[in-house]
Amino acid sequence: MKILVLNAGSSSQKSCLYEIMADQLPEQPAEPLWQAQIDWTHQPGKAELQVKTAKAELKESIAFESRSPVMSYMLSTLWSGVTQVIADAQEINGVGHRVVHGGQNYRNSVRVTPEVKAAIAGLVDRAPVHNPVNLRGIEVIEEILGNVPQVAVFDTAFHAQIPDAAALYPVPYEWIEQGIRRYGFHGTSHRYCAQKTAQILGKDLKDLKIVTCHLGNGCSLAAIREGRSVNTTMGFTPLDGLMMGNRSGSIDPSILIYLLRQGYPINKLDHLLNQASGLLGVSGVSNDMRLVTAAAEQGNYRAKLAIDIYIHRLQALIGEMIATLNGLDALVFTAGVGENAAEIRAAACQNFSYMGIKLDPEKIPIAHEIR
Ligand code: ADP
Repeated sequence: MKILVLNAGSSSQKSCLYEIMADQLPEQPAEPLWQAQIDWTHQPGKAELQVKTAKAELKESIAFESRSPVMSYMLSTLWSGVTQVIADAQEINGVGHRVVHGGQNYRNSVRVTPEVKAAIAGLVDRAPVHNPVNLRGIEVIEEILGNVPQVAVFDTAFHAQIPDAAALYPVPYEWIEQGIRRYGFHGTSHRYCAQKTAQILGKDLKDLKIVTCHLGNGCSLAAIREGRSVNTTMGFTPLDGLMMGNRSGSIDPSILIYLLRQGYPINKLDHLLNQASGLLGVSGVSNDMRLVTAAAEQGNYRAKLAIDIYIHRLQALIGEMIATLNGLDALVFTAGVGENAAEIRAAACQNFSYMGIKLDPEKIPIAHEIR
């Protein structure tokens, strides 16, 4: 089967085409035939497209007003131009979508139906940055590929079994009964990283205590024991936990009450916490770690402060995850910042030298242009 996978993140759209053989184990995915990434936010009004196959690479800057035409163009590079890997769109047998919030009803992957689309739309208020673009991705595929089977893979599913002590907030019990609890996100990424770690270490996942650090534009940690998520930093929505590219992460909830009493409109608070906080809000430079780091290196005080807060919170919450696990066999980094920013990884590890985490300076990191 040829399966197209779409991952609409908050700042990027990543896609791969995989050819899956009948005898292939799910935990040993093959290299993709085609990989593409669109970066929405690097330059305003422009989307940066990178496409890579075994034989060719394509890099283009595209005028960007709405996502759909850019995504259509990206998909057309599958069957035309230098990166062509299939004769036409009909060769695609199925499409898998990362969908951020599946709520309480979707704890496993499901085939997309009108009801599933309605459920994803119904959860937009709980994942306002992601669920709308995930839904848009499903619709773009319907427009281009017609009736191809589509599957929604929910970020929340991997965390569905987090014990109540970690999943529930200490709030009035009626709130808990309404479904207000920690759902956790980036589950597909955390699960994959745990499996890959066991493979690399040559150990059984059941014997490992792992903390996975997904540091992209959105950031979250997971504490994984016996292959299961037992704690994570994102919560009821993807706003909880670590400081992120443009999200605040956890703040004292009374700050909101204080600002509401000052007359701040709810939508403005929503926007400020989800879009104008984090690295962008503190530094005033960007939500992109590359630009914030460059500004800090040139002596920009607010950029340096933003990185200091980012690292402080990362260390503190890694500590929380280790405490939940009562030990650690592997600390794993992934996503844009985790994969590429060696200095952030080093800073995160610094306060765990007491546990025996040591960095090997000989192992020079390789920066991946496409992930
Ligand atoms: P998302 O999926 O949440 O959109 P990604 O995992 O694609 O996020 O990560 C995007 C972020 O990764 C960028 O905003 C940028 O901050 C960071 N990033 C990418 N490359 C680098 C790099 N070479 N050095 C530091 N940060 C990087």
